[in-house]
Formats: sequence, structure tokens, C-alpha cells
Amino acid sequence: MTARLTLQPAARGLGMTGQRARDRLVQRLREQGIADERVLLAMATLPRHQFIDEALASRAYEDTALPIGRGQTISQPWVVARMTAALVEHGLPRRVLEIGTGSGYQAAVLATLGLEVHTVERIEELLRDARRRFRQLGLDVRSRHDDGRLGWAEHAPFDAIMVTAGGAALEPALLDQLGEGGTLVAPVGAGSSQRLLRLRRVDGGLVEEDLGGVVFVPLLPGLS
Ligand code: SAH
Repeated sequence: MTARLTLQPAARGLGMTGQRARDRLVQRLREQGIADERVLLAMATLPRHQFIDEALASRAYEDTALPIGRGQTISQPWVVARMTAALVEHGLPRRVLEIGTGSGYQAAVLATLGLEVHTVERIEELLRDARRRFRQLGLDVRSRHDDGRLGWAEHAPFDAIMVTAGGAALEPALLDQLGEGGTLVAPVGAGSSQRLLRLRRVDGGLVEEDLGGVVFVPLLPGLS
């Protein structure tokens, strides 16, 4: 038995995809300014390597974006941490909408925080893989194959909305579906001039903050 275990370090939670690798990533996120313990704990818990192709699994806990097929990427862990922390900074929302399911990792982080997650993806093939991951990890995430620029009207209003693909402007439908007291985080702008914006609906008005420069894949129209 002992010899067998020695041959399978990953199974013991060591190696490139185990708990130590996750702890090292979280330590690095801390050093780079992520201070929200709830977010750090969720990311220390979730197996990010299960959200990417096996061939790339050994790189899952590097702080980098990785390809997930169809020209899309799983976001860099620091970006996931930053956006999640920005979304929950003024109190944990209950009902959340994510646009751009991709690998499902960001939705899984939100679900691990105990939020009621709704996520929309335009590429069916990616959504299928993401759904399988939610199932395998026992995560309760509602998902829909649609153009996320339209939001998900049947489940609105949302306490929080996170867009994980970059649009030229904020989508009016998404702002309409943001409830009073709600927070929306979205990358906005063309190409390399994208800014991460946070909008909060307070006293009937919208308060906008610029959280810095980011690079996301584009928010595209239609289904695929
Ligand atoms: N949140 C993802 C990041 C994926 S990259 C993760 O954690 O892995 C952005 C995703 O947004 C891509 O999968 C892309 O297909 C999707 N996307 C782009 N435009 C979209 C749109 N209009 N509606 C829904 N999804 C969209």
C-alpha cells in the first residue's frame, strides 16, 4: 500500500494539482493584494485543475489564464479573485448572474461562497463541459445556453452581476436586471484598453468605479 501511494502523489493531495499547490497559489494571491478571506478560502478549496484539459492540469495553479477550447480561456486566478472580492465587498449577495460560463470555474467560486448562481454561456460545447464539472463537484449552479448580453430576465432582479467577457459598452439589459443595492462588475472597452468597472445601484442611481485595466476575451453576439 505504501509503495502504491508513493507512486500516486496527486492522489494524496500533493504534486502539481493537490492542496499544497492550491495553498501556494492562495499565498501568492495574498501577496498580490487579495485580502478577502472568503474568496481566498473558496479558491483554496476548489480544484481548478478539474476545470481545464488534463494536458494542462499541471499548470492549473500558476497565476495565469489558460485555453479551454473554442478560442476561449479560463481567467487568471488573480482576476477571478479580484472580481469576486469586488462583487462581495459591500456584503454577500444572494442571487448572482454570471455572463460567460466558460470553464465554469468563476461560477463555481461564487457557488462555493454560498451564493445562488445563474450563469449564461453562448458556446454550447463549453457549457456542456462546465455542467459536467458542476455535477461532479456537487455544485448547485443554474445555467443557460443563450446570448448573455440579454441577461436572464426570468430570474431577475439580481443582487450581483458579473460579466467575464469584454464588451464595448455596458449592456442595458444587464443594468435593467440589477436590483436595488446590487453590484455589477464588468470589463468594458475595446482591445487592450479594457477597464474593469464596478457599478452599484444605490438610492435609485448608479455609482461607477474604475477598478483598473484588464484583458478579457470579447463579449460576442449570438449563439454557437
Ligand atoms: N468565467 C469563465 C471565463 C470564460 S472566458 C471561466 O471561469 O472560465 C469568457 C466566456 O464568455 C467564453 O466562454 C465566451 O464564450 C463567453 N461569452 C462571450 N460572449 C458571450 C455572450 N454574449 N453571452 C454568453 N457568453 C459569452
